[in-house]
Amino acid sequence: MAGRGIVHLVGAGPGDPGLLSARALELIARADAILYDRLIPPGALDRARPDAELRYVGKRPGDPAMSQQEINSLLVELARADREVVRLKGGDPFVFGRGGEEAEALAAAGLPFQVVPGVTAGIAAPAYAGIPVTHRDSASAVAFVTGHEDPEKEESALDWEALARFPGTLVLYMGIKNLPSISAQLMQAGRAGAEPAAVIEHGTLPGQRTVGGTLGNIAARVQEAGVRAPAITVVGAVAAMRETIAWREFGPLRGRRVAVTRARAQASGLAERLRCLGAEVVEAPAIRIVPRPVQGDLASTVAAIGDYSLVCLTSPNGAGLLFDALRACGHDARALAGATLAAIGPGTAAELARRGVSADVVPERSVAEALVEALESIPVEGRKVLVARAAEARDLLPEALTRRGAEVHVAALYDTVPEPLSDQARAGLERSDYVTFTSSSTVSLLLEALGPGHGLPESARIVSIGPITSATAREHGLSVHVEAERHDIGGLVEALVSDAT
Ligand code: SAH
Repeated sequence: MAGRGIVHLVGAGPGDPGLLSARALELIARADAILYDRLIPPGALDRARPDAELRYVGKRPGDPAMSQQEINSLLVELARADREVVRLKGGDPFVFGRGGEEAEALAAAGLPFQVVPGVTAGIAAPAYAGIPVTHRDSASAVAFVTGHEDPEKEESALDWEALARFPGTLVLYMGIKNLPSISAQLMQAGRAGAEPAAVIEHGTLPGQRTVGGTLGNIAARVQEAGVRAPAITVVGAVAAMRETIAWREFGPLRGRRVAVTRARAQASGLAERLRCLGAEVVEAPAIRIVPRPVQGDLASTVAAIGDYSLVCLTSPNGAGLLFDALRACGHDARALAGATLAAIGPGTAAELARRGVSADVVPERSVAEALVEALESIPVEGRKVLVARAAEARDLLPEALTRRGAEVHVAALYDTVPEPLSDQARAGLERSDYVTFTSSSTVSLLLEALGPGHGLPESARIVSIGPITSATAREHGLSVHVEAERHDIGGLVEALVSDAT
């Protein structure tokens, strides 16, 4: 009987994690083993199984790279051992990715394999720079060309004369080092020196940069700008179109470095919005959310949730974890049928909505004081009220409700613990133009992690989600330069953009 061993040759796209295909993500999450290269998007392996074998098989500076032969053998060996293997490559596996060679080796060994195409850098990097590789008026064909070979070499596999005559866009991969001789060769063979050209460095990634010019001067400009690999070179009339339709390098936050200090698990939404606006995001998570085990007091409180007439949720984390706890106790959303649900903040209400229930009370301002006020019309005297939240939190809400005669219980669903700062995050923070704080705990734990004489630059502007977070920042000696008017992620981004523009 055939085993379950199989190899998926998967393209991971050009670098922007959003360009990983749904199929690629699904296979990454399922694989027993993942063999990956250098140019895969940041975070591409985050969803891999914790027990999956992750193996880097790309080049390492100083170290001899694993040979293609060795990689082929490893793929065959893993598939024979009944493993489901993902061979993850940047861009598309069959475009200058040696995917063809790996497929041949698997076919020769009689092993099953599948190919998942990816978004190739030669299309995506130009697209993110405002360059369509074809255009009805100016480019009816496109050629993908490797620039890896020095055209001066006798044994070049490329026909540069033919490429010079090629009636359309030339897209050169791996060509930065050889750009001077490639452009000279093309011109010598008759391609016009005045033809527009552009080089896109780190296409689709936060540090994307484009250098424009003509075939005649692009090599010099690239050298002057210090462009490094990975970069794509585009030669053709379309390269000039970026002057009108470039979009990514022109957002309101272009050139700004913005630090995101929220927990890694929650950071992606904020980071994504900032990137879309052109910012370079520094991920410096200061906190981590650790759910408490649903046992003891917490388990008995949650199991008896039907007895509460009012349930208050103070954070999106709390809302999500309450449902997890309900499930752990054998309940579901129906257990909340009889209760009034109150939520602080639109993010918390949205988390509830995602679980199929809508909050009855959401105060306009996202602070506990506002919820206390909003609850004034809800009868609580002599009734059981549950406040589901972090273990360490302000007691304002439970105290106010107790004063009104309610029997208040607190379900401490999670702890907020410090996340150790990586050297990379520390270095990024030191160069940030903006540092964003989405809660008091992000402020205090970040400063704790940075240590005395914290490493935030004098010139960095501090952005806070609301008054409570701002107060904590001030207590720690920070000046708050920007405070969101709406105390959610959208409000924070809006305030940051209006400060930056
Ligand atoms: N299989 C990949 C290409 C691998 S060859 C694909 O389909 O995209 C490696 C070359 O791809 C680099 O030298 C560079 O020319 C290009 N490249 C890969 N990622 C890139 C990026 N984010 N920006 C610009 N060029 C990139």
